[in-house]
Amino acid sequence: MNDATGFFRAVVHAASRVLRPHRSQVVGLGVACLAATAAHAEPASWFPDPPTTPHYQWAGTACAHCVTLTPPANWRTMAVLAGVPAVRFLLDEHTADTAFAAPPDVVVVSPALLALDRCQQAFVVGHEIAHIARRHYDEDAHAVQIMSERRGLWTNRGEQAMQLLDGDMGLALKLTVHWQHQEREADWLGSLLAAQTSGCELEFAAESFLHGDSREGGVLASHADNPQRLRDLTPFRASARLLAEGLFTPIP
Ligand SMILES: [Zn+2]
Repeated sequence: MNDATGFFRAVVHAASRVLRPHRSQVVGLGVACLAATAAHAEPASWFPDPPTTPHYQWAGTACAHCVTLTPPANWRTMAVLAGVPAVRFLLDEHTADTAFAAPPDVVVVSPALLALDRCQQAFVVGHEIAHIARRHYDEDAHAVQIMSERRGLWTNRGEQAMQLLDGDMGLALKLTVHWQHQEREADWLGSLLAAQTSGCELEFAAESFLHGDSREGGVLASHADNPQRLRDLTPFRASARLLAEGLFTPIP
């Protein structure tokens, strides 16, 4: 990837995930839960309010060679629950990533993602939807601009702001902690979206996908290693179970 956004996303989503055979697990309650949430068609009451981060303009050309993908119903419902029902889903036949989010409204998935079982897919796609809903790309553009002391209206174009990262290892290091926070947020939101829409408790979604000790290398790693990601998700285990069982589902 040559542009700044590409550089950034390559950093954020550079984790090489080793895919192993997994149990196919679909919880029956998820079907009723999905029907209820689809009819409701509003953001989930537990989902954070939209961020107040300034809006940047994005060219939206991160994956020009991708093809449009008709998503499974539970992916679309996750987007609704996250307050971003217009998210577009694209398929990249050639990416080494499992999935990634591209500003302003795209989730790109790979054949490797489609090979996962339903709950693992829901966690990964929910994680990427969370990046879109929380406008982490706008946060990045804003943070880069502030940290570069280019304040005010220097630019409202996201790609131009992110170009400030080009060749600036010091700035990228400053942003690493910021990216790690975003990844933790996407993990717990993705886990709860998977639980509510697909009946997937942590055991069958995040824990199943993140098992093993694979680690993201490099000084600019944004994801923690898998054991740490799972420890960070522990406080959300009970909430995921309740959502998976339909006990937190808003009444339409
Ligand atoms: Zn992420």
